[in-house]
Amino acid sequence: MSVTLDSNQWNLVYNIFSFGLISMLACTVYTLVSQSRVLPKYRNALVMSSMVTFIAGYHYYRIFNSFGEASNGFVVNVSGDHGSFNEAWVGCLGCYNSGLLNGDWIDGLEAADISQAVKVKIGDPAIYGENCQVCVKCGSDEFWVFDHENFLGLIKGECSPSEAQEKAEMLNDLAEDKREAFVAYIELGFEPDVSSFEDAYIGEFDTDTALAEYFIDELGTLQIPDNLRPYFDFEAYGRDLSWDLSNHSGHYFWNN
Ligand SMILES: [Zn+2]
Repeated sequence: MSVTLDSNQWNLVYNIFSFGLISMLACTVYTLVSQSRVLPKYRNALVMSSMVTFIAGYHYYRIFNSFGEASNGFVVNVSGDHGSFNEAWVGCLGCYNSGLLNGDWIDGLEAADISQAVKVKIGDPAIYGENCQVCVKCGSDEFWVFDHENFLGLIKGECSPSEAQEKAEMLNDLAEDKREAFVAYIELGFEPDVSSFEDAYIGEFDTDTALAEYFIDELGTLQIPDNLRPYFDFEAYGRDLSWDLSNHSGHYFWNN
């Protein structure tokens, strides 16, 4: 979650922290150099005061830094999380073609969002208005994802910002423990569609035996009386089953 301040509000907060910090440090110095001007029995109290204001000053310093780091322009991230877990490096294609790298990391979920490029100072809304984004340096309106992180192989090489955003949305829609399986599903050549993935996904199994046990015990494909289980060849049954399924790195899927 983030809070958008106007420039006066942001400067007010910044200046209050800044003032707090320097007041504490100035007070520390003042109480230290005043030692000789008080009676010896009060000097200890002055040292204590210096310590207290010094520690307070340190805390102001930490708060001040934290505020600066959480700010992106006048937008302050107050939740502590950093949005989605994947990021795309979006840059200007015009600049790139003339040998210049002009771009920045943008949250995967906002890769194609015009206001994000403006925020990280790639795009300039001033020229053609809010909805037409052009590069601040060369005026080109073509942006491209040159690098990316945590797309789990969903993006091969480079892609358009809208493709990156679309894939980020897919991955963010999935529970964390299903992401790897989803990537396996795509590797197998299925359409990258979350709901058909969820219909098709059976589970992760290390061996044919584990697959057979799942089919018999959980899906009830065969009824085997307990006293006959030791004679049943789970491995062979699992191998037979797997011929009708798709599997990639231990993740199994129905074929239709
Ligand atoms: Zn450019």
